[in-house]
Amino acid sequence: MTAQIVMLVEGPTEEAFVSRVLQPYIGYASAYLTPIVVHTSRAADGTAFRGGGGWIHYHRQLQRLIGQPHWTLITTLVDYYGYPPDAPMCSCVGAHNQPACVTARQEAIRASLPHDDRFLPFLALHEFETLVIAAGASQTTVLGSGAVAGAFRDLVSSANGNAELINNGPSTAPSKRIAGIVDGYSKVRDGVAVLENGFESGLAFTPRFGDWVSILRDAGTDVAHDDEVERGDDESTVSDGQIGTDR
Ligand SMILES: [Zn+2]
Repeated sequence: MTAQIVMLVEGPTEEAFVSRVLQPYIGYASAYLTPIVVHTSRAADGTAFRGGGGWIHYHRQLQRLIGQPHWTLITTLVDYYGYPPDAPMCSCVGAHNQPACVTARQEAIRASLPHDDRFLPFLALHEFETLVIAAGASQTTVLGSGAVAGAFRDLVSSANGNAELINNGPSTAPSKRIAGIVDGYSKVRDGVAVLENGFESGLAFTPRFGDWVSILRDAGTDVAHDDEVERGDDESTVSDGQIGTDR
């Protein structure tokens, strides 16, 4: 059986990335990914606004998803940068040291909801564009430009090969750096296009993200293994079924 993985994501870019890049990479046979953009509020006509917003909206939807038994894995794709201030926090004193800080926040999110082994929240360090920089750095050209690819490579080198450690901050966030390198950069159009070309090779520059992708892939393998164990028990399953039919 294919694993059913649901991801609460913060916006349409992440939704497009999951559907167009992550799903084909993981493969439809091992896991089926369902990205859900967090609904933050409702207009008077009942139309839901999607994307970002306070943590209460994430909390409610995660609570609902945890209550649904058909998911194999329940996860999130939320940026560290712009993390809602009312969300479960780290216990960092003074500076937020990475990656310990995001790991602590993930654990705090987990502890804030009913315990469920299927629930593994994930925070991207520092934001979605980290992945775009990593993917671009692994290519000879990015959006048709060798200079852009070179600039992305320099950024990754400046962070010692770990794109996740490219600093966040008002002027140095990964998204701001891309905006300074690519004229008229569009997160959905250009960001996802770069990832469609270089996602797999870029994973080498994003170790935390790579670990999360491995967990998603293994969820499918684990389900396949469970099926095998169940098949070993075929005889009793069949007889149980027959008894049920007789009644
Ligand atoms: Zn922290």
